[in-house]
Amino acid sequence: MAVHLITHDFSLAHRTPAGHPERVERVTSVIGAVKASSHDVVEWDAPAVDMGLLETIHDRSYIEHIQAFCLGGGGALDPDTHVVPASWHAALHAAGAGPFAVDLLRKRSGTAFVAVRPPGHHAERHQAMGFCLFNNIAVTASYLLEKGDKVAIVDWDVHHGNGTQHSFYPNQDLLYVSIHEFPFYPGTGWVTEVGEGVGRGATVNIPLPGGTSASSYLAAFSRLVMPVLTEFRPDWVLVSNGYDAHVRDPLGGLNLESDHYGWMANALVSVVPSNRVIAFLEGGYDLDALGEASVATLDGLTGQIAEPVWPTEVQGSAAKVVDLAVEEIGRHWKIR
Ligand SMILES: [Zn+2]
Repeated sequence: MAVHLITHDFSLAHRTPAGHPERVERVTSVIGAVKASSHDVVEWDAPAVDMGLLETIHDRSYIEHIQAFCLGGGGALDPDTHVVPASWHAALHAAGAGPFAVDLLRKRSGTAFVAVRPPGHHAERHQAMGFCLFNNIAVTASYLLEKGDKVAIVDWDVHHGNGTQHSFYPNQDLLYVSIHEFPFYPGTGWVTEVGEGVGRGATVNIPLPGGTSASSYLAAFSRLVMPVLTEFRPDWVLVSNGYDAHVRDPLGGLNLESDHYGWMANALVSVVPSNRVIAFLEGGYDLDALGEASVATLDGLTGQIAEPVWPTEVQGSAAKVVDLAVEEIGRHWKIR
């Protein structure tokens, strides 16, 4: 199966200060590993996003502020989020990558893997934060929703995707499911955040304490994420594909191994029609883990993994929060 790798050279021109974890080498590691793998990789250049589409997720005044700030020389938008002039172009092409992937998968078979910077899931309607300028995955979901598709976003980055959650909080056609470390940056993502109005239930949060074992994480994923997705029956699954829940990640406190990303990716393929999964690089700060886990994810998306044996028991301090999540999610979805 073809792997459509969507990237852009402006990702490499978006520079952050020395020692900053969100750096150019992240994306070069991912692209290098993917291209060196045995996968049938087809590389594509991401176009700049359509401005009208970008404005469905971000206020025009905010977009203009980012443009002026970057092109005016750049600097720190907040203590974490730094830009240079080229970051403006990087952000436009990062936001354009997902809609391009959608159009591609409507015409060609395969799976799409978006490897661009800056990442997106923390970006709010009118605020840059957490290394993110525009919410790339939300822009793509908006593109699909406008065409009448039902969209699920699965966010396995170790941080909660506050910006994505808020973009669709009252929306029943967009399922947002996040499994993340909690308490942790950005502070949102507790079990009681379930959406509002007709969107109640379409936001699902599974917050796991730092130190949660891979086995407990995977048990929570199979017990909660998969039944909700199966019942929702999305037309498309978009993945906020951060690798900072990896055991070797210097920022995250969770313990996944590279292969586990393949397990999860493979499970997602089963809930949508063929050629309807797009993975978007979010976080992940260990360069070797990024490359290794990216290839594992593609192994899962293309069905080239051995049948996993999913753990069933959540242990330790994670058990208590998973019980709370089961209670909350069980009000809206059929879970055991
Ligand atoms: Zn993250």
